[in-house]
Amino acid sequence: MITETTTQGMYEKLSAMLSTTVPDFELRIKAELAVEINRIKAEKNAVILGHNYMEPALFYSIPDYVGDSLELSRKAAQSNKDIIVFCGVKFMAETAKILNPTKKVLVPSEKAGCSLAASITAGDVRELKAKFPGVPVVTYINTYADVKAESDICCTSGNAVEVVKSFNTDKVIFIPDEYLAGNVARETGKHIIYPTRDPKHHFPNDLDYQMIGWPGRCEVHEKFTVEDITNVRKQFPDVVILAHPECSPEVVEASDFSGSTTAMIKFVEKSNAPHYLMLTECSMGDNVAAAHPEKEMLRLCSIRCPHMNQITLEDTLEALKKEQFEIHIDEDIRRRAYIAVERMLHIG
Ligand code: SF4
Repeated sequence: MITETTTQGMYEKLSAMLSTTVPDFELRIKAELAVEINRIKAEKNAVILGHNYMEPALFYSIPDYVGDSLELSRKAAQSNKDIIVFCGVKFMAETAKILNPTKKVLVPSEKAGCSLAASITAGDVRELKAKFPGVPVVTYINTYADVKAESDICCTSGNAVEVVKSFNTDKVIFIPDEYLAGNVARETGKHIIYPTRDPKHHFPNDLDYQMIGWPGRCEVHEKFTVEDITNVRKQFPDVVILAHPECSPEVVEASDFSGSTTAMIKFVEKSNAPHYLMLTECSMGDNVAAAHPEKEMLRLCSIRCPHMNQITLEDTLEALKKEQFEIHIDEDIRRRAYIAVERMLHIG
């Protein structure tokens, strides 16, 4: 009997889904790697979490769970396995460790960073809090543990509006994604300002604002433009365009739907449009297209996240074999970050 535990079985499964996206010789190599990873995973009592932005052959072969960073963090929190391998970027693996500190959490590549997470430091947050005393800090989950530790609550792209609305205060600090903050401000009818690190920069005293943002951006989503949308609509007038809220407010406004990666997937699953275009990381488009061959997915995709791209089957195999690269977080930082993440999980 051929099953996914054999190279031939895995190859057949991947080939059935991905033969139009991944060359055949690559599928054969990847099937072999995936079978070996799954064997060691069972041997070491490990669980593999795969983010929606993982490349298709990895996405459909080794994760026990796939999803966005929030869904995977919940899975990490509930896991009773000895090792959690997070096929995603470092801040995601850190969130798993924050929620389940007794487990060994591994990220397959040390190079898997994030432009958003790198845009702000814990010191920056302390300075913002000093500049705007008493104003609560809402921090996007795409940040490192020490930044989360300085925050009142975390949020994801899926619950950011709800989290901001949960505060009964005149003002809210929302960091670090300039565009997500802009989209939340638009949706909640708040006026937003963006402080800089320049100590000489001051806002006029009579300025009316309710949100304080930060100039961090996702290097993938900032690349989509309104012109891209206009051009696609000219060619495909009946296309439904879905934009991730890390895209600029102008792009989100010109789109038909905006939501987290999971919300976008659900939208495609539940609707019936002649064409779809997802303005997000391109592997996700490939993964959705593979799962729904009956849907017509357009690609605008030269935009692969260089950080997510670091996570390969080869590196995952090495990470499992050598139990590298383990996430370590100072316990005081972890405990404070846990409070911010836990508060968000209570909201939803
Ligand atoms: S897609 Fe953007 S937010 Fe996600 S890891 Fe890459 S740079 Fe960071």
